[in-house]
Amino acid sequence: MASSANLRLKEGKVLPIMETFFSIQGEGFHSGRAAYFLRIGGCDVGCHWCDVKDSWDANKHPMIEVSDVLEELYGKSIDTVVITGGEPLMWNLDYLCNKLKDLGLAIHLETSGAYPMSGSFDWICISPKKNQDSLLDILKIADELKIIVHNKNDLKWAKNKQNSVSKSCKLYLQPEWKMKNKVMPYITDFIMENIQWEVSLQTHKYMNLP
Ligand code: SF4
Repeated sequence: MASSANLRLKEGKVLPIMETFFSIQGEGFHSGRAAYFLRIGGCDVGCHWCDVKDSWDANKHPMIEVSDVLEELYGKSIDTVVITGGEPLMWNLDYLCNKLKDLGLAIHLETSGAYPMSGSFDWICISPKKNQDSLLDILKIADELKIIVHNKNDLKWAKNKQNSVSKSCKLYLQPEWKMKNKVMPYITDFIMENIQWEVSLQTHKYMNLP
């Protein structure tokens, strides 16, 4: 039994789903647009400012059949699913993405890029983390680079990461929520000097959305 469960996990037919919800995207390029969120548990990147620490331990979240997740989507007026975490690329996302594509949905990924790619996506947003850097292969295919700014050093790091993404990749600096008053002036100055960068705010928090 155990080995069959492990095989289903390896194949991505079950996943440790932390939560699913229909809401409005708060951050980055697609900010303001409705989407269905699928948050997968498990992350060992360990950002000290992480606001979803409950996601870290995958064992705390139920292993759910992908087919059951899909059933929740039937009949809803959804055109986009955002796969987030935790770190979703800790799991094999091929099966989930194939099934979502069969439903004709656009699939977006929110990842740190610290694990090898699986699945296929219409939009990839990478938020690299210093504790566990993003893989170069994933940075190269990112549609959106989102650097969380906790202190001034993160701006240097942002420029460094810019060298690894494609020319068409959208570039965002996002103040870490608790540090926003302190870092916004740095971000503003940086963007006025580096006009290909834009600011991203966690607008869902201002709207009291998840
Ligand atoms: Fe939290 Fe994301 Fe960092 Fe993981 S990568 S610790 S989920 S912010």
